[in-house]
Amino acid sequence: MTTWTDHTADRPIALTAPSGIDRAAHHRLDEAWLAAAWSHPTTRCFVVSGGQVLIDETPDGTTELVMTPSFEAPLTEAHRYFLGTDAEGVSYFALQKDSLPGRMDQSARSAGLREAGMLLSPRDTGLMVHAVGLENWQRTHRFCSRCGERTVIAAAGHIRRCPACGAEHYPRTDPAVIMGVTDDDDRLLLGRQVHWPEGRFSTLAGFVEPGESIEQAVRREVHEEVGITVGRVEYIASQPWPFPSSLMLGFMARATSTDIDVDGDEIHEARWFSREELRAAFESGEVLAPYGISIAARLIELWYGKPLPTRGHTG
Ligand SMILES: [Zn+2]
Repeated sequence: MTTWTDHTADRPIALTAPSGIDRAAHHRLDEAWLAAAWSHPTTRCFVVSGGQVLIDETPDGTTELVMTPSFEAPLTEAHRYFLGTDAEGVSYFALQKDSLPGRMDQSARSAGLREAGMLLSPRDTGLMVHAVGLENWQRTHRFCSRCGERTVIAAAGHIRRCPACGAEHYPRTDPAVIMGVTDDDDRLLLGRQVHWPEGRFSTLAGFVEPGESIEQAVRREVHEEVGITVGRVEYIASQPWPFPSSLMLGFMARATSTDIDVDGDEIHEARWFSREELRAAFESGEVLAPYGISIAARLIELWYGKPLPTRGHTG
């Protein structure tokens, strides 16, 4: 029985690198502590709106979140998320805004996680993925799902409370599975979604349904999308995917059949590739090599055994 060894384990999957930030959840309900932290001169905050933040290039060529001392920030306490503290005791907050402020200087610009996740340091990426996840949830859960009353923010952005019925609502995370499927000849199955451009192929993925284990979700999704039956399922790694609120659970899965029958609904085309076939397809441009922050490229690399050829990138 194969156990997949991640040859690239020293390179963290995007959005999952250790950020060095302690989320310090025990402070979230301590209003006195939060007020003191907010007025402390070392505390930093950044703005988040619609999944976007402001980033800027530094003189040494790196990219960073645009942060300001919290005492200089216009405070609307209701829209302040406490994200944690670092090893030096610096506290970090995100401020939710309806829109991002205009350019803070000549080079600052807005960016979402798909772009910023490849540019920012692990600390800034960790702060951003936390803030964006909270902001997505806060923006779309303003009313109580029990009684319909408007809810209010609590726990420094990590809870919404209903003043009418007393319900507490927590940020939701929707589990999704993403899987590299191989057959007995060690070929890899890749599919092209109906809205993807010609040549863009990737691993299959889908949401876990109520009452289903994640292994069942892997088998159901693969069978629904391409008609392949799957036996053994091996968990590899996970990745936060706040677009808007998913957690991607990555697997390698072994097919027990090989005849492809695409559903035509989600998947337009699917193919089995040997390593040699995939390399040739990348080099000819017939298949566009995946890149970006998704765990998909890592699953393909895991099967491929080394970093993928770089020609013919796609988004
Ligand atoms: Zn309610």
